[in-house]
Amino acid sequence: MVELGDDRVIYAFSSDMDPALTIPSGQTVRIRTKDCFGNQLSGPEDELDEIDWDAINPATGPIFVEGATAGGALKVAIEDIEFDGHAACCTGKDEGVYGDKLNGWSTHFCQIEDEALVWNDALRIPLNPMIGVIGVAPTGKAVNCGTPGSHGGNMDNTAITTGATLYFPVAVDGALFGLGDMHAVMGDGEVSVSGAEAPGWATVTLTALPELALIDPVIENAESFGIIASADSLDAAADRAVHRMVELIAEHSSMPVPEAVMLLSLVGDVQVCQMVDPQKTVRFMVPKYVLEAVGFDWPY
Ligand code: CA
Ligand code: ZN
Repeated sequence: MVELGDDRVIYAFSSDMDPALTIPSGQTVRIRTKDCFGNQLSGPEDELDEIDWDAINPATGPIFVEGATAGGALKVAIEDIEFDGHAACCTGKDEGVYGDKLNGWSTHFCQIEDEALVWNDALRIPLNPMIGVIGVAPTGKAVNCGTPGSHGGNMDNTAITTGATLYFPVAVDGALFGLGDMHAVMGDGEVSVSGAEAPGWATVTLTALPELALIDPVIENAESFGIIASADSLDAAADRAVHRMVELIAEHSSMPVPEAVMLLSLVGDVQVCQMVDPQKTVRFMVPKYVLEAVGFDWPY
């Protein structure tokens, strides 16, 4: 296994990034990640109005994957997520869903113990580890790491966890993969504008799939297969995810489109990832047993 430290980080995904690491397709990499505050909060005494806002939302990387070609895809299998042992949460004026009613920043610092986030002496919350920022170089102009899009980025998707596999559309040769912004706990929506922001390590296996063409990221886990889409509003993101799933089924099976749409209405779930970033993100998840039964061909 290869390790990549967090001394090389990016603040935007772009096609002209200089690789921090080059690996062969199929390599597993253990990646050190800073939290979304760039590790600038180290204890309950630290305040958000004192941090360097140019150093937030870092992603470690980028990693050049040999064999990944523009027009193909990058497969990212999430093998493990490890946390250092603490996490920080925040909200603030004009941030998140309730920011219109808040004055200034608030933070809450927590320890992580025995697979739980210790909110206080009375409340321990079971961890649901996830990776907030994960993606590849986009087509067109650079996208800052706080914004999600078809290249991935700040999708803040609770389904992006150990055991999940992501497929990203590759815009430039090598894909230029990066990740960061891990959360020990987060609810769908991420209403305050933060999860339990936690530095740590993510272990992923990166595989080039030059023959697979995609428009938006695809996610797969033991039970489900889905599309992740981001847009100006949750409505537009949901619309985009559903359209993309119908297109994908039409492309990878022989099922007539109207039948696919009726079936998706019965078994597909539109789920909110986050509603607080510059673009909003939705996932549309379909059970794998249904896709297998209708001959969906996904040999990746
Ligand atoms: Ca995030
Ligand atoms: Zn975060």
